[in-house]
Amino acid sequence: MTYSIKIKNILCVLLLGTATAQYPIAQSRDEMFQFISEMPKAELHVHLEGTMSPQTIVKLANRNGYSFFNNVEDVFESLENRAPGLGGFLQHHDKQVSVIQTENDFYTLTYDFLKNCFENNIVYVEFFFDPQIHSERGIAFESVLEGILKGKKAGEKNFNIKSNLIMCANREKSIESAMEILEKAKPYKNYIVGIGLDNGPENGNPPVKFTSFYQEAKRQGYYLTIHNDVDEANSVEHIWQAIDILKVDRLDHSINAIEDLSLVEEINNREIYIAASPVQRRRDPVPQDIGRIKFMLDHGMNVSLHSDDPGEFESGYLTKLLFNFQQAGHFSKRDMARFMLNAFKATWLEQADKDAYIKSFKKWAKENGVRI
Ligand SMILES: [Zn+2]
Repeated sequence: MTYSIKIKNILCVLLLGTATAQYPIAQSRDEMFQFISEMPKAELHVHLEGTMSPQTIVKLANRNGYSFFNNVEDVFESLENRAPGLGGFLQHHDKQVSVIQTENDFYTLTYDFLKNCFENNIVYVEFFFDPQIHSERGIAFESVLEGILKGKKAGEKNFNIKSNLIMCANREKSIESAMEILEKAKPYKNYIVGIGLDNGPENGNPPVKFTSFYQEAKRQGYYLTIHNDVDEANSVEHIWQAIDILKVDRLDHSINAIEDLSLVEEINNREIYIAASPVQRRRDPVPQDIGRIKFMLDHGMNVSLHSDDPGEFESGYLTKLLFNFQQAGHFSKRDMARFMLNAFKATWLEQADKDAYIKSFKKWAKENGVRI
């Protein structure tokens, strides 16, 4: 061991010592799992099409007469054999999306997702849906929406979960196509709380490509968010475009903001919330971006943690993701509660409803020995 490594280790011990003294660490892994499992949660960054469990995929594949995904082992095998990177991810993703065909399938998909939320103690969810990936498969916008809304209604009733929809345009598609879905969404305006932008590639499809789409969405009264994927070319510039030109209310991912401290300051000044997704892929030893998210929390950024495509990542659904993130990053109970408080504060609920969730969450935290 070299002298400099020794010094570094001593500094680490000192820093960890400070953190431990300030925020008592949970007594045991089991106790922490119980704390995170029972924590009332708000989920704000999750793609409906990426939430499907193997059971739901098999149900829809069999219902629609597909020769693949006949049983859950087929789904596991497809997940297991994905090539690394976005290409491999999309190959499986597109295959599983193809089993969703009818209005009734969207009902099933949404209902099963809300059941999953219930099992993860999620009390409020804003979820993305991507109409363009369905219209290009010949499925009418109305079928998608009617199915989702029926599933949402039944799920909310049976599982006592409140939910809202965020409609995403796909950044690789044209601005005209994005404007088209905004037009088609008009009859459903009361059910869609916000507008987002996802898919990719981000390179060549910067936020400014969608300026008129965002302007029109704001004019129609939607809240606005946008995916700025992690470590893309010009990430920092794209985040500046998102807040200055698109004037978004929230940012998805956008972890690279920490590379520009003036951007960090601006995001904090404007009280913009960041919905991060520290997912874990098959080859990742630990969840992604732990250090950078810790930096955000320590620098007063309003960052929260979400599951993104829980059916397709090793990180899974929200309780599992939060627990693995906590364990790998040695976060305290208070840290985990602060992430979740940020999520409730970031919701696009009516103020009275938001205040009620925040009050209830703070009460739960206090009862569980955490002051936030
Ligand atoms: Zn996402």
